[in-house]
Amino acid sequence: MRSHPASPQSMIAVIGPPGSGKTTVVTALAAHERVSVFRLREAVRRCPDLLAGLPPSTVPLGWVSDEAVVKVLRGMFLEHRFPTGDEPILLDNFPGTASQLRHLASIATSLGRRLSILELRATAATLAVRVAARRVCRRCGPDRHAPARPAASDPARCARCGGELKRRDTDNPHIHALRLARYQRNRPKIAAAATRLHIPHLVLHAGHCAPVVSRLARHLVAVLTDPAPAYRAASHPGSPK
Ligand SMILES: [Zn+2]
Repeated sequence: MRSHPASPQSMIAVIGPPGSGKTTVVTALAAHERVSVFRLREAVRRCPDLLAGLPPSTVPLGWVSDEAVVKVLRGMFLEHRFPTGDEPILLDNFPGTASQLRHLASIATSLGRRLSILELRATAATLAVRVAARRVCRRCGPDRHAPARPAASDPARCARCGGELKRRDTDNPHIHALRLARYQRNRPKIAAAATRLHIPHLVLHAGHCAPVVSRLARHLVAVLTDPAPAYRAASHPGSPK
């Protein structure tokens, strides 16, 4: 039988609407702390065999079906394809639905890890401005969805490779509105499921500039990974205004 460390390590699900800065925050955390980062789309890309035999997703907006999510989670975490030691695992932009949260909670239990949620929240106006300004570099970076850093001399070019920066396909205003509406539909159900499952759920107002949000996120992650469960006294946040 596998034994677990005396103070179980954490899995922290980072969720929030498109444009709230999840990937920026998770990337900043990973640069400063010893953490592993899980991204569903990377897992699917790296291990396409996990989805072999499943019909192609018919869900719009490139959403991965719940059946596929279960297969990916099991393959990555229970069959140990996701390389992790005993450091905390951050899940970038996952789960997207209450059902995915329930699957994740059961995986965390199997791994002997404590699951918690860090939710980024910003006003619709802030999100729209950020999404309109956000660019990706198609040339560099293994993840073409990750936000690119513009060059100081020419903001239309990538600071790393000098390539031309482009708007992400899913950031056009129509698709952004659909993705935001989907998030807003799912978010209260995720919060309700978290309450039922006694999963700690902290909310960070992400309307500040990225360095401030990242610093605040580091503090909250320190709270969530603290072996002393002080956070259990925290109240569960209600619905967004
Ligand atoms: Zn580049």
